[in-house]
This record gives sequence, structure tokens and C-alpha cells, in this order.
Amino acid sequence: MPRMREFGETIFAEMSALATATGSINLGQGFPDEDGPKAMLDVAVEAIRSGGNQYPPGPGVPELREAVAEQRLERYGLAYDPMSEVYVTVGATEGIAASVLALAGAGDEVIVFEPYYDSYAAVIALAGAVRRPVMLRPVEGRFTFDPDELRAAVGPRTKAILVNSPHNPAGTVFTRGELEAIADVCREHDLVAITDEVYEYLTFDGTEHIPLATLDGMRERTVSVSSAGKTFSATGWKTGWVTAPARYVRAVQTVKQFLTYAVSAPYQRAAAYALANETAWVAELRASLQAKRDRLVAGLEAAGFTAYRPQGTYFVQADIRPLGFSDGLELARALPAKAGVVAIPTQVFYDHAEAGAHFVRFAFCKKGEVIDEAVERLRRLA
Ligand code: PMP
Ligand code: GLN
Repeated sequence: MPRMREFGETIFAEMSALATATGSINLGQGFPDEDGPKAMLDVAVEAIRSGGNQYPPGPGVPELREAVAEQRLERYGLAYDPMSEVYVTVGATEGIAASVLALAGAGDEVIVFEPYYDSYAAVIALAGAVRRPVMLRPVEGRFTFDPDELRAAVGPRTKAILVNSPHNPAGTVFTRGELEAIADVCREHDLVAITDEVYEYLTFDGTEHIPLATLDGMRERTVSVSSAGKTFSATGWKTGWVTAPARYVRAVQTVKQFLTYAVSAPYQRAAAYALANETAWVAELRASLQAKRDRLVAGLEAAGFTAYRPQGTYFVQADIRPLGFSDGLELARALPAKAGVVAIPTQVFYDHAEAGAHFVRFAFCKKGEVIDEAVERLRRLA
């Protein structure tokens, strides 16, 4: 299929297969090695046992749509009508895909911050649209962008801007100032923002996640996407949602209903329960992830990498040059044999691969002893 020619197997599939084949520690694909809250798991099991196994309503079960609306209101002061402004999707991945397919057509342009999560490029291509990357560069240990470069990326065909904060793989949580710069551009050029907020709870050192929709004039032009996967350590449940003004939700619905129609019913019930009842569990998860982040950063530094301490997400960027390497893709492919560890080469998230060639991404959403063992092994590289 010509539109998809540049996309082979995803890096996550390649690297997780490599981890399995070599018995390596997998700090590549971001998924936790411990389960989410037990009561949430019980709700899913109970939903299956009690016969909740047929097609749920296409837009999502009412209790999840209500729980999402309640969460956006309580946590961020954003009011959405659960019936017309919330739509349940197969993970954030489908929410993003349906939003892009609904809002960008052939020849339209979509702005993304580079490095970007891999599915963005693929769905923009599926839409027949063109991505316009804006570079995130490390400035004093934190990845950020130049607002002038963002402005310069907007053209007559620009339709939308995809904003991921907390950002995978850079680990940045956009400040209010950065979000204002994005909002200014959206308002000036009448762009829609699609926000990927899957790490909304996973921020550290008191850093606050600010949804773009909370900025002046942005609720009416923002499609916000999130999911249960990261917040409740249930990445395999693929249960996500879109919140947006009704006209955008209708557009998303038009696409989503023919991609998958509906989303697995038992997981929706469990996600609804978790959103409403498990915030204390999530606070503990966040604290434990912060400690794991520090453990991995310290270990990577001891092993000779320059590590970038993220403000959020599951991931640390490591500069491989101090160890004498220059090509992260080459190193990631050799790392299982060299050290019995798997990481993700950050360059695959760039259009300008040379800008990310010297980074590899390590995940810290793993048990402390797993991180320690990985670090011990990585010391062999020095
Ligand atoms: N966006 C980002 C930035 C991610 O890291 C991921 C991976 N969890 C996703 C979207 C996909 O989320 P989901 O599993 O809910 O589809
Ligand atoms: N979001 C996770 C990551 O970045 C996993 C993505 C996937 O498996 N497609 O590692």
C-alpha cells in the first residue's frame, strides 16, 4: 500500500521480540511489570462473570463516559457532556487515529513535535495528510521547542496540531508558557489541537499536567485523548477515550464506528470504576515511578550514559556518546548480545533521524530489582 510504504514493523514489536528471543531485560516497550489496583481487576472479572459480554453501545458504556466527564471536571475544571462530548475508543491509539482521520484529509498538514510517538506519523499517512515536525531540543537537560519554529511550521494547508504532554519519548511536561505558545498558534490560524494525555497522572517532582483545553479559547478547538493503560497499569486493556465539543466527537464517531465499532465491555466497566475510585492508588504509583526514575537515572549515569531526568512518563533518554557509541539504532540492536538489555532507539521517532541518533530510550516502569539488574548489566558497556 503506497501510503504506508515507509512503515514496516513497529520498533516496539521488533524490540520486544528481540527481548524474548534473547532472554534480555526489556526496558524497551513501555508497560509495567506489576498489575493495577486489585479491585479494578475484580470489576473486570465480575463484569465477565455476570454476563456483560455482548456489544456495548458504540460510544461507550454510560458509566465510563460519566466517569470520564467527572474526572475532567474534578481534576481540571473542564465540563463535558458525557453523552455528546465523550467517546470511548480502543486505547488512546484509536482515539488519536480516529481524530486525525476525521480532521485531516488528503494534502492537509498536521503539526507534530519531533521526536513523536510512532503511531502519529502512521495515521497522518493513512489520512493522506502530511506531517510537519517541530523539533524538541534539549535545553539545560529538558526537551523544549522554539515558538518561532512552531509558527514557521504553519501553512495554508495546516489543519491540526498533535500535542503530547507528558511527552513520550522526551519526558517533557509542557509548561503553561509552552502551552500558551501552542494555543496562540491554534487561535491565530484556526487550528484544531489533538492532545495525547495518556501520561496525565504520571508527572514527578510536583510538576503539574495542564490540559491544553484549559487555556483560554482552547476547549472549543481541542480534542483531548487519554486512556486507562498507563494510569492504572493496564496497558493490555486498550481502553481509552476522547473528550471534545460535540461536533468533533461526531466527526470522531463517524470514523471510529467503522474501525472497531465498540470497545471491550468488561474493561470499560473496570476503567469506570478505577477513574472514580482509585486515585489514591494512582498517587502511590506516581510516587513509586518517581523513585524508579531516579534509580534508573542514577544507574545509567553510573554506567556512563548522560541521562535526561524526565518530568513525566515512563521513559529516560540516554545519550550514548560518552560511552563511545554514535548510532542508537545500531546500539539498540546490539544491546541484547552486549549486555542482555533491550532499549528503544529514539531516532525512530524523528523525521530528522540525525537529531536523535545518539539517544536511546529506557523504560523505568519495572520492579526495582529489574532496574538494578539492567543497570548492573549496562555497566559492562564501559
Ligand atoms: N500515546 C503515547 C504517547 C503513548 O506512549 C502510548 C503508549 N501507551 C499511547 C499513546 C497508546 O496508548 P493506548 O495503549 O491507550 O492505545
Ligand atoms: N506506548 C508504549 C511505548 O512507547 C508502547 C507502545 C506500543 O507497544 N505500541 O513504549
